[in-house]
Amino acid sequence: ARERYVAARPKSAAAHARARAVLPGGNTRSVLFYTPFPTAMAKGEGCWLEDIDGHRYLDLIGEFTAGLFGHSNPRIQAVLQATIANGLNLTAVGENEAKLGEILCARFPSLERVRFTNSGTEANLMALAAARAHTGKSKILGFYGGYHGGAMTFAGGGSPVNAPYPVILAQYNDIEGTVAMIRENAADLAAVILEPMMGGGGCIPATRDFLATMRAEATAAGAVLIFDEVMTSRHTAGGLQRLHGVTPDLTTLGKYMAGGMSFGAFGGKAEVMSVFDAYREGSMPHSGTFNNNVLSMAAGTVAMGELFRDEEADALRARGEALRAALNQVCARHGVAMQFTGIGSMMQPHFRTGPIIRPYASTPAEDALRELFFLDLMAAGIYTARRGMVALTLPVGDAEAARYVAAVEEFCEARKPLLA
Ligand code: PMP
Repeated sequence: ARERYVAARPKSAAAHARARAVLPGGNTRSVLFYTPFPTAMAKGEGCWLEDIDGHRYLDLIGEFTAGLFGHSNPRIQAVLQATIANGLNLTAVGENEAKLGEILCARFPSLERVRFTNSGTEANLMALAAARAHTGKSKILGFYGGYHGGAMTFAGGGSPVNAPYPVILAQYNDIEGTVAMIRENAADLAAVILEPMMGGGGCIPATRDFLATMRAEATAAGAVLIFDEVMTSRHTAGGLQRLHGVTPDLTTLGKYMAGGMSFGAFGGKAEVMSVFDAYREGSMPHSGTFNNNVLSMAAGTVAMGELFRDEEADALRARGEALRAALNQVCARHGVAMQFTGIGSMMQPHFRTGPIIRPYASTPAEDALRELFFLDLMAAGIYTARRGMVALTLPVGDAEAARYVAAVEEFCEARKPLLA
């Protein structure tokens, strides 16, 4: 499978060799690195991609959820072109940032006030800074396998935590252990941060009980509860917090919300967010040249105000649920050690049976299967994350979803001996 991958991609191989001379590892996004070399894409349309060697792929990763609207949504292209015509970099506030703020605050239960950033990473960093300033405490409680951006990757297995604040880590969905840790650290604990479904950690949902317990315990400990909904916000028009009926103090957002332009946001209780209120003496500064860049703000008002509302979010979640059910039926019918976890339009294959409630260290056999699955999908013209994650985009229809189900069926048949 590897030889076939390499032989079909001479231009991607050359591009990678050239990139390695100036970029460590050959790129600037760790998630896009894989051996023997990553496929370089040339262009996209709707839910289709074309690589620089001329192969076409069904795009089932959609920029890790940021590409929700597809590659060529006409409404988004039009608003971007109209915005460009009025000039970039105006060094001023505009009208769209308040409009986008109104849209988001009306939809997310926890958002009374919101601020914009360039990325989800920054949104999380600023949310944690706000929590520390608000509480006057220092520590952050996160979860093994949690991903909160390039500066906050809480890898498991004792590998380093690259966060700028003192962090303690608990096990996801472990109510008893986490409660004990929160109580022990209450005096120093500024924030508890978690994704209400782990995305990068393997599309593993938190139970509602776990989220509700975190809510109660954070309050009791005088800590700020932060939901990182950078990925999961797509599951309803008001995020997973709305689906579960559990409201955090702060929420962080990002990805698709600016129609595919770079974006991040954080917000929540007015009382906590007031640390940034410039009318207040000693308020915390939060600058950023591109925080309110005109392209993200204009595309965001259209994307969130017109293109992705309750109806679209609910339909997308239903389509994802149906796809995951179909995939798991295929796995069950073949009796293979393979399953898909997730919620709605986000899902992840795992090469093991039994319930998966938190990230785990995969075995070498699982790693080998993951690579083989990816290579087989690439050969079938289907592009997913290297780790297998799927994030549906709005242009993906029933026929495209069926293509993926057929490819999984094919994989189960062809690789059955390896999937015992
Ligand atoms: N939080 C979560 C849950 C994410 O999945 C990501 C990005 N994959 C981030 C934060 C960081 O967002 P960004 O890549 O925009 O910095």
